[in-house]
Formats: sequence, C-alpha cells, structure tokens
Amino acid sequence: MKVVIIRYSEIHLKGNNRDFFERVLINNIKTVLKDFTYDFSVSNARYVVRNFDELYLDQIVDAIKNVFGVYSVSVAEEVESNFQAIQQAALAIAPSFGTFKVQTNRASKKFPMTSMQISAQIGGDILQQNPNLSVDLFHPENIVYIDIRENGKTFVYSQIIKGVNGMPVGTAGKGVCMLSGGIDSPVALYMMAKRGMTLRAVHFHSYPYTSLQAKQKVLDLAKICKKYTLHLTCDVVNFTEIQTQIHDKLPPEYEGYLITLMRRFMMRIAQKIARNNDAGAVVTGESLGQVASQTLEGLTSTDGVATMPVLRPLIGFDKDEIVEISKRIGTFETSILPYEDCCTIFLPKRPVIKPKLYIVEELERLLDVDALVKQAVDTVETIVID
Ligand code: ATP
Ligand code: MG
Repeated sequence: MKVVIIRYSEIHLKGNNRDFFERVLINNIKTVLKDFTYDFSVSNARYVVRNFDELYLDQIVDAIKNVFGVYSVSVAEEVESNFQAIQQAALAIAPSFGTFKVQTNRASKKFPMTSMQISAQIGGDILQQNPNLSVDLFHPENIVYIDIRENGKTFVYSQIIKGVNGMPVGTAGKGVCMLSGGIDSPVALYMMAKRGMTLRAVHFHSYPYTSLQAKQKVLDLAKICKKYTLHLTCDVVNFTEIQTQIHDKLPPEYEGYLITLMRRFMMRIAQKIARNNDAGAVVTGESLGQVASQTLEGLTSTDGVATMPVLRPLIGFDKDEIVEISKRIGTFETSILPYEDCCTIFLPKRPVIKPKLYIVEELERLLDVDALVKQAVDTVETIVID
C-alpha cells in the first residue's frame, strides 16, 4: 500500500511547547487535505497518511510539502515486515541506471537480520535484476531506503522531497499585511507566514482612479498566498477620498510629501484594522532604499504613527532576491500584470527622499486625519479568500 510519510522541522526543538506546535501542524496538514479522504497517524516524530485514492497522490504530496513546518515528504510502499515483501518492494522502486545503495533502518530488533545484512542482500538482488547499475556506498545517485518499524510494517522508498520548512502557521501571533499588487508585498506575506504568523491582508484601492482589474489582481495574489497561509481574509480599503483630499489640500510646494502622507494614512488604517482583528503587527513589503519612500527617513516618518511593531521581512533584500522568491512561490506572474497601484496615480514629480517630521505633522493639520481614517475603516470591504 502506498503511504505518505511526513517529517517535520524546527518544531522538534521547541521543548515544552512541542505539543502545541505539533497540534497546530497536524491541524494545518488536515486543512490542506480537506478535499481528500485518508487516514492519518502519528508515529515517532513523523506522520503517516494512508488509505487515500492513489489517483490524487501527486496533489496530496504537493499540498503537504507546502505546509510550513514540514521538513520533508516521502511516498513509500508500506509492506509486512517479512523479507520477501521488502525485497519485492525494493526491486520495484530500484533505479534504472546510475549508482545506488540500500540504506536500512531497523527500529524493530525482532526482525531476524541486521540492517547491514538486509542492505547487502537486497543491494545484491537489485544488482542481479539490473546489471547496468553499480553500488556506491559513499556518493550514490540513488538510495533505496528500508525502514523496519516496530509495528510489524516496513516502509520502502527512494525519494525524499523537500518541504517548505518554517513554523506552522498559527504558532507566532497574528499580523496584518499591506498587500499591494506589486512583487514585494506577497513575498513579505509569505515570509511572515513561514515563521508561523497568522495573516490578514489589507489592500488600498482608489476606484475609479484605479481599475477593478487592479483590485482583482490583488485578490488573485491573495488567493495564491492562501496556499501558504491556509486561511486568508483581505480587507479592501477605499482610499480615494483620502488621496483626493491630500492632493487638493497640499500646497504645491510640498507636493513631494504626497507619498509620505499617504503612507502614514495607510499605516494608521492598517493598524486600526489589525486592532479590530486581534492582530499585533503590521507587515509591509518595504526594502531599504528601494524607492524614495523607503529611505530610513521615509520609514521613520511612517513609523511615527505606528503604535505596534511594523515588520518588514524584506528590508535587507535586493530586488533580484525578492523576484526569485516570488517566482518560487508562484506570485511573480500575477504581480507583473500591468494594472496601476493607488500609490502610482497621484505620484509627485519629485518625491521627498528625506521627509522632515515637523513638516509632515504641519501638513497633516490641513486634513481631518481622524475622520478620514475612521471613514476608511468603517467602509472597508471584507473579502474572505476561498
Ligand atoms: P510592492 O511591490 O509590494 O508594491 P513597492 O516596491 O512597489 O512594493 P511601494 O509601492 O512603496 O513599494 O509600497 C511599499 C509597501 O507598502 C508595499 O510592499 C506594501 O506592503 C504597501 N503598499 C503599497 N501600496 C499598497 C496598496 N495599494 N495596498 C496595500 N499596501 C500597499
Ligand atoms: Mg507598489
């Protein structure tokens, strides 16, 4: 019978909290498997999935290996622990060319042969079946694993598929991620989910200055992100009124402060939404020096209105590195679709690189900040991503 073996990562380091971490991880694995029927069991620091429809094997493996906390996955043949059955399973998965070795682990000492004897005997059988192979004990291209368990069963497999690692989502608090349609913020969201954070997304749009496609693009990105966050809700904030007011009230000589003011509004609103949803941090896709608003002074002016931690997991990343991750996690192709972001429509010709806080605060006196924030939060459109 084909089974899926799941090994987990860092969480085994978590001493007293181990039960909690494991419970969340198991729950998360079950969440991604909710459309399949299967049996699930826990044995010796790993999990085994059995009795599923083999037609869905690839989908099941793909879903499991993307759960944070999963270190690796193997598809194994589970057989009775008797020599013939093990031999037959090993011959069936033996490589067709190259070098190999057989590696046996004998958890049950009741089995009448030692690990070495089993490896040697089955290695010989594999060679006899296919004389084109050769044995290499030190740097084999292929390994046939035989794992004799204590319950009278043996796993035979040849592949170890890497999982995404990280910590189970739901073990590291909750954050609200500012999700734009760009390349960076979905990666930032992914990175925090990878460390176990539960996430909610907030997106600012300026309909009709930004199109409905631009909003849909963000929801599409959120859908891809949900593969990693397991559950995801996106609050869509109508930012039109705030942008219009800033644009209209800002004296022309301070036009360069437009982005600074916008970003402080975004931070205030994201924080309110965070607080309303029991979240304790705001996450952004900013990276130091990437654009005018991401200088140290720019970040400082945004943080001037922050009353909770602002997490910027990409702060030290180059664009190349961010692009590489976005390709790997599957958001890149959607991120590069050409729809405009609300930050780009009222773009000043010369944004200030080093905004001065006393000027920012003076400019904000021209606006009814609290009322604008309240209105934006009150009219938020909450979309559960499915
Ligand atoms: P991204 O690729 O994530 O859009 P960026 O390099 O374009 O980032 P900015 O546009 O300055 O940089 O945005 C910086 C961060 O602010 C984004 O990573 C995101 O977290 C947040 N942000 C910007 N625009 C929006 C928006 N319309 N809705 C929600 N968050 C936004
Ligand atoms: Mg952007």
